[in-house]
Amino acid sequence: MSWQGIIHTYRQYLPFDETVRVITLNEGNTPLIRADRLAETIAPKAGLKLYLKYEGLNPTGSFKDRGMTAAITQAVHEGAKTVICASTGNTAASAAAYAARAGLRCLVLVPEGKIALGKLAASLAYGAEVISINGSFDEGLDMVRDIVTRQPIVLVNSINPWRLEGQKTGSFEICDQLDGRAPDWHCLPVGNAGNITAYWLGYQQYGKGLPRILGGQAAGAAPIVTGQIVPKPETIATAIRIGNPARWRQALQALDESGGIITAVTDADILASWSLLAKLEGVFVEPASATGLAALKQQIEQGAIDPVGKTAVCVLTGHGLKDPGTAVDQAQPPQTIPANIDALEAYLQQRV
Ligand SMILES: *Cc1c(COP(=O)(O)O)cnc(C)c1O
Repeated sequence: MSWQGIIHTYRQYLPFDETVRVITLNEGNTPLIRADRLAETIAPKAGLKLYLKYEGLNPTGSFKDRGMTAAITQAVHEGAKTVICASTGNTAASAAAYAARAGLRCLVLVPEGKIALGKLAASLAYGAEVISINGSFDEGLDMVRDIVTRQPIVLVNSINPWRLEGQKTGSFEICDQLDGRAPDWHCLPVGNAGNITAYWLGYQQYGKGLPRILGGQAAGAAPIVTGQIVPKPETIATAIRIGNPARWRQALQALDESGGIITAVTDADILASWSLLAKLEGVFVEPASATGLAALKQQIEQGAIDPVGKTAVCVLTGHGLKDPGTAVDQAQPPQTIPANIDALEAYLQQRV
């Protein structure tokens, strides 16, 4: 049978009422791509089996769709007419799409000027009411938390437990795709810490073994690494530009229980890994998505992770087309030549 999304596929692991009307865009079932060239680059001759879980191939281009199908399905079941979220962009796009499909009004609060172009474009196209706030993601989250105590609106940020229920299915897929075994290391970016929490829940529930979790934060937005709220987080990886993660405590628990590691990587490290993914493996992601790989590379270099014979999965959380601006800024502009064969040949010779 063809794939019908994560709720239909993993229904037995999800606490939905039997009568729910499932709101789905057939999300999930994303590829787990073996990355041998990349493995050889970050851990030469170690026999590291490195895999990329390409979550950018979800319907709105990020893993948020796994959680959103669950949150919107439950919201509709409870009779909601309006949903709201604060977002660095991907939650907004995902909420907007699933709300459109369910016929709900959708409000999204985004930090002014700090949302990547592809995310804004999609949220607007799906018909969400995009409200730009003169403040950070964290301030937006405080606002939406308050408004739902005063108005009949459902909050679909990852403090909504249904988001975690949906997102934990990523672990199930990884185990299925690795022939029924969890990897040794599970590497991912950490922003608001919903995803790290959800993956850990998923591995525990599925019973196919437990990985150690490696979380990466951007150095300019690394509250869990430093143990301090960051009042003005800064990083090129806008999806993880968060100074006070809502799931901070659960993230620490996942790290502790899994024997995991949380580490900070610089924007330069993130962009270096972002470039390796595209140029060595043909996988184009938004900058935040490269943070798990940057963390793995760093920990191998520092000797904290022994890669020999290990299996590691890096979750690539969002698609590269989400943030075309960064991609263009990082590249040389294309060279223009006259439209004739001699010019093309001259170009080829000049480049050898
Ligand atoms: C939301 C998001 C993250 C961070 O996930 P959290 O659950 O907030 O930790 C990382 N990368 C991308 C592309 C995202 O959209």
